[in-house]
Amino acid sequence: MPELPEVETSRLGITPHLQGQTIKAITVRTEKLRWAIPQELQRLVGQRIQSIRRRAKYLFIDTPAGSAIIHLGMSGSLRVLDTSIPVAKHDHVDLVLDNGMILRYNDPRKFGAWLYSEVGVQHQVLAKLGPEPLTDEFNCEYLADKAKNKKVVVKQFIMNNAIVVGVGNIYASEALFSSKINPKTPTGQLTHDQLFVLVNEIKKVLTKAIEQGGTTLKDFNQVDGKPGYFAQELNVYGRAGKECLVCHSLIQEEKIGQRNSFWCDKCQALNENK
Ligand SMILES: [Zn+2]
Repeated sequence: MPELPEVETSRLGITPHLQGQTIKAITVRTEKLRWAIPQELQRLVGQRIQSIRRRAKYLFIDTPAGSAIIHLGMSGSLRVLDTSIPVAKHDHVDLVLDNGMILRYNDPRKFGAWLYSEVGVQHQVLAKLGPEPLTDEFNCEYLADKAKNKKVVVKQFIMNNAIVVGVGNIYASEALFSSKINPKTPTGQLTHDQLFVLVNEIKKVLTKAIEQGGTTLKDFNQVDGKPGYFAQELNVYGRAGKECLVCHSLIQEEKIGQRNSFWCDKCQALNENK
């Protein structure tokens, strides 16, 4: 599933091809992805693309007549191609540009989204979203305030979009590992020092992943491949039963809030065992 770094990489990959171009047509080949694709998207035809923004895992293609909102869901991907490239299976939406290129959206599982947002109106999908993890607004004081008296375990806490957006399952496991915090720690028990380290490690793992994604930017205008999905250097996620890279204990795996979770019992001992 594309997480925040993949979405940011997609934004960086498509921006130079789209910015300043005029939308000639929008071709939709399916009625529905996760939600019905709204007719109002056609209002963008004839409009010039001003900017491509990201909020949480949503991408915005902004024009003076409103924005297209794109979510990659479980399996969505975007490529910028020449109009002559034949349509393939699962190519559901084309944004045709006047420079002879198209932004093509492919999504085998159809859990993604294409929506329309009016200028100056916040779309309902953005309601109740917490701060972006890579902004100053997401800091230790903010997190300490939210964590106060919370009984929910820390892994679920940091994956809650109302607390902070874009910390998905992989990066939650990685950030907790490098913070030496057990994922099952009740959030209210975390010390100020632990929260400080956690905030910084979340920023660090996401930044590093975005940098790794940078090596795939050229793939956004290639016919083959899966742009925006890149091999990540993971220290704990997916390593159940293997040796911890720090202490050589075996990595544990368990479902926490229905999501596979990985940690080292020794490096990430519960606070009461420290
Ligand atoms: Zn360890």
